[in-house]
Amino acid sequence: MKRNNTAQPGVNRRQFIKSGVAMPCIVKGLKSTGYSENSSMKISRIEIFPARYPMTGHFKFFTGPHGSKGRAAIFVKVTAENGRVGWGQSVPIAKWSYETLETGTVALRDYLAPQLIGHDARDIVGAHRLMSGAIANGFSTGMPISRAGIDLALHDLTGRFAGKSLAQLWGRPRGGPITLSWTLNPKTLSEVDALMDEGFKRGYRNFNIKVAPNPEFDIALASAVRKKAPEGFLWADANGGYDPVTALAAARDLADAGVDILEAPIQPNQISGFQSLKKLGALPILMDEGVVSPVDLREFIRLKMIDGIAMKHSRCGGLISAKQQIELILSKGLIWVGSGLTDPDISLAATLGIYGAFGLEKPAALNGPQFLTADVLQKPLHVVDGKMEVPSGPGLGVDVDEVKVRALVGGESYIIE
Ligand SMILES: [Mg+2]
Repeated sequence: MKRNNTAQPGVNRRQFIKSGVAMPCIVKGLKSTGYSENSSMKISRIEIFPARYPMTGHFKFFTGPHGSKGRAAIFVKVTAENGRVGWGQSVPIAKWSYETLETGTVALRDYLAPQLIGHDARDIVGAHRLMSGAIANGFSTGMPISRAGIDLALHDLTGRFAGKSLAQLWGRPRGGPITLSWTLNPKTLSEVDALMDEGFKRGYRNFNIKVAPNPEFDIALASAVRKKAPEGFLWADANGGYDPVTALAAARDLADAGVDILEAPIQPNQISGFQSLKKLGALPILMDEGVVSPVDLREFIRLKMIDGIAMKHSRCGGLISAKQQIELILSKGLIWVGSGLTDPDISLAATLGIYGAFGLEKPAALNGPQFLTADVLQKPLHVVDGKMEVPSGPGLGVDVDEVKVRALVGGESYIIE
């Protein structure tokens, strides 16, 4: 590992190959869609750029001494022996889950990336196995948001090498455009009108509201939004902020106020609470942050805890897991909606790619374009009339401008090779 081009102790490629740990194993079922054997696609270098995007507006997750500094993002640039490059992005939010800009950087730099030097970039399943060997599970996959940055970069690199988009790698249609939902997180009810008007002006017709812990405020908020947007899709996300008793009452009242779905009403380890909420049936009950791996999702479905799931590849550990979860939901006839983590552009491109490929029907709560004021792309992604096109180019479909990336890096960046 190098820090600002200064040699540091680390794992070099030769040592790693000798260890015999990384035997490339091509993803099953993907051989015919571009994942094929070629030694020149072995990973020779991984660069890590910890950064923050500047923001606008109020969103509770980006407050406090760390959050108010901007949206944390760790850029991951993976280079193969043949010189091809893929970009990914880890998007931790300390107020959303336990991963932070600092811990994510250490996890990537000192644990995950060193395991992958010499590994075939197209063997993404194998890469996840190596990463799981470096950082073990907690209840589920360890450091999922951090590892998603690697997963994205490997999909980008694989797709670019094959000349295929995400959808083409998966043998699916590109899909899109993706209709977006405008996020409302007002501090007072008097702000609601102006916040909604801002969304309307940009072509948005659907709204997602942040609720909990105060149900009286939440019901008044939901009523106000429903009154001003009678036809829109209205989605309430509590981020685990109610206790189970409050959530049962709130679910009924939010349904009466015109809410369409209720996401993460209580903490994910309150399993009996989820079962009671689903059994009540006042609103479709969705989980988000509590579901990391497909194993979790399968178990929670069996336990009759949920009617569906709010997807985001970052909380799943990347696209491999996210794709499996969408496929599982579809096979069970359950609901899936698309959200994000105020995704910056590289992560957003991957999100659009998977939502388009799997035909997302409900408006997506992708609010990066609403709250972030910088980009790192040669051709930035745009919202037009409340919708975004699915990128069509190879890999994640966007071209990163490294000069823009470096301009967002506040401190040091790192090279692992
Ligand atoms: Mg959520």
